[in-house]
Amino acid sequence: MTSETIHRLLADNDFLPESKFGQNFLCDDQIIESIIDLCEINPEDKVLEIGPGLGSLTRSLSCKTNNLTCVEIDKRLAEFLDKDDEIKASIISSDYLKLKDYDASEYDVVVSNLPYYVMTDIMKKIIGDCTNCRKMVFMVEDEAIARIIAKPNTKQYGPLSILCELYGEVTREFTVPRNCFIPSPRTTSAVISLTRGNNKLDSNIVKFIDKCFTNRRKKLVNSCPELKGILEEHGYDSNIRAEQLMPGSFLELYNAIIN
Ligand code: SAM
Repeated sequence: MTSETIHRLLADNDFLPESKFGQNFLCDDQIIESIIDLCEINPEDKVLEIGPGLGSLTRSLSCKTNNLTCVEIDKRLAEFLDKDDEIKASIISSDYLKLKDYDASEYDVVVSNLPYYVMTDIMKKIIGDCTNCRKMVFMVEDEAIARIIAKPNTKQYGPLSILCELYGEVTREFTVPRNCFIPSPRTTSAVISLTRGNNKLDSNIVKFIDKCFTNRRKKLVNSCPELKGILEEHGYDSNIRAEQLMPGSFLELYNAIIN
């Protein structure tokens, strides 16, 4: 989609981009193609796109698979995409964060030019829900990458970095300048890809890690009393704080609680 196409679609349909929904529409065909390539979609793959917007990625995605589902919070956009015969996708008109009982475990690939105001929550939900997904490709604010790849004992380290590391390999692929969007976002963006490793994650693990960080300055047992005793049994200092634990330790402790 070029900037001319985006401007035309906005004008023809009387749409104004909604900043409350983080609407910055991608208008650079080369970037769109590079994102689609990173997804490594096989024709039989089930693909999930969060926030299709005007369909910048959706049009190309629907040429790669017959199994594309898109979740869009803005009812006008969801209706617009649903009516477009060129787009072969199942469009769910909903806030993704409120979506329950969907076929999450069946998706092989998830892709999103993420709405930046809810980036962290959407990424955490995808990682917790899409338990069999082998590849995730996201457009994020460049400055958010520090939080995604943060290491223990740093200010940026938290549930998002832990979940990304547990999910698999995180790669910062390329920078996307502000002028590749209409309207331009506040900062430069970047595309990242996540390739699944061997850990099995689910939404309960996401809840557990969030709970561990309820009060990051206090002892971990204050946020998570279930860990009393378990920490020492597993060789950890009983006064340890969540931000001092390696990602793998959260899985180890979660498994100790549930077993
Ligand atoms: N994919 C399009 C593109 O690349 O041009 C639009 C990307 S725009 C940055 C983010 C999109 O996510 C918007 O269409 C917005 O309406 C949608 N969105 C925002 N919050 C959402 C949520 N909670 N659930 C689903 N979609 C959401």
